[in-house]
Amino acid sequence: MSSVRRTRAVNRVASTVIPAILLGCIGFATYVVSKRICVDWFLNTRGQTTTAVVLLVFHFVVLAIELAAYARLVVTILFDPGLLPRGEKYSESTKEGRQLSGTGPDGNDLEGRRYDDIEAGHSRDVDPNSPGLERFYSKDVFICENDGLPRWCSSCKNWKPDRTHHSSDINRCVRKMDHFCPWVGGIISETSFKFFVQFVFYNTLYCIICLVASALCLHDQQATHHNDGVTIAIIAMAAFFGLFTFGMTTVSLQYIILNLTNVEIIRQKSMVHQLAIRVPQHTEPTPYVHIVTYPLPEPGNEGPASGPLVGHDDPLSARDQLATRKFAVVRTQLGENPWDLGPYDNWKSVMGTNILDWLLPINMSPCVYEENNESFYRMGSLHGELRARYSLPPVGEGHRTPGFEPRGR
Ligand SMILES: [Zn+2]
Repeated sequence: MSSVRRTRAVNRVASTVIPAILLGCIGFATYVVSKRICVDWFLNTRGQTTTAVVLLVFHFVVLAIELAAYARLVVTILFDPGLLPRGEKYSESTKEGRQLSGTGPDGNDLEGRRYDDIEAGHSRDVDPNSPGLERFYSKDVFICENDGLPRWCSSCKNWKPDRTHHSSDINRCVRKMDHFCPWVGGIISETSFKFFVQFVFYNTLYCIICLVASALCLHDQQATHHNDGVTIAIIAMAAFFGLFTFGMTTVSLQYIILNLTNVEIIRQKSMVHQLAIRVPQHTEPTPYVHIVTYPLPEPGNEGPASGPLVGHDDPLSARDQLATRKFAVVRTQLGENPWDLGPYDNWKSVMGTNILDWLLPINMSPCVYEENNESFYRMGSLHGELRARYSLPPVGEGHRTPGFEPRGR
């Protein structure tokens, strides 16, 4: 069994067993804290009504929001997981023949390869009118390969929008993929990351409340020489799960503030981003800047000058001129993040624009709806800095294609 298949099998089992264990632990803790600690001990045995009521209220309010976040997370993963549709050329035979999904022909993970390592044209669609390509060159900027074409997923047979990654766990491309989470049995992506963060945050709060209630109870019981093993068990469980989810919460908050996913942060220090940035029609290539022209030329009609995808031999009609869009292919420096909007805007793009959005698992992250004529996700100041760094001229009104409105910042 290949390592990919073995990992998938382990994940399948884990995603069935772990949620059941998790819900069982929450159910047990709820019973012990509410019934045995608050009602039986503080209320009936010790007569401490205030302590019992305060603990019960906090306990059930946090529990209710935690369960709501968990339910919202599971429902989102089941019904709107943020998957990219497979390409039109994906077929059943492809599915059968690509069981080593997520891997290239040499068995390596395509996601883990650098731009330099990815052979231009690597098993991708060579049709200049490839379905889905227009969605990229109708924007002002997108992530591309060395030759200016978007990234291609050879498993799903599709062009991958910015921040989309192929998950070998589910054999699908996922928009803004974060990680496969066995706690909820699915992929955490742009649609579910906010609810995941809310769930781990409220789970941490819940563990703190359980810890406080059982510690108070244990302290009281020891004063009266009455020891309850179940109370000690809750302290151990709450400390274990609390520390675990606290760690996940702080790491997730760091991702939000930096506007990076788990996938991106792993490669952040060793990878540059390569962007196709729209430039005016008259822009010529330089030793540092490759120019690509869309729509791609038909075979046999490639220009000689600046790469295989550039230029047309025949003079273009006025209509063709309008439909033509030129892009400069440039690279960021190591560690630069094109989607960094600044900490607060990064936060709002994931968590929402107001405090109710931040606290309640209702609305999806605004970044789900960020795609527009400029880019797939809002880009930060780096877009403008790259234009200045590579001396790329601005796209004037006269060069804009009807229907593609400028959205300069
Ligand atoms: Zn894919």
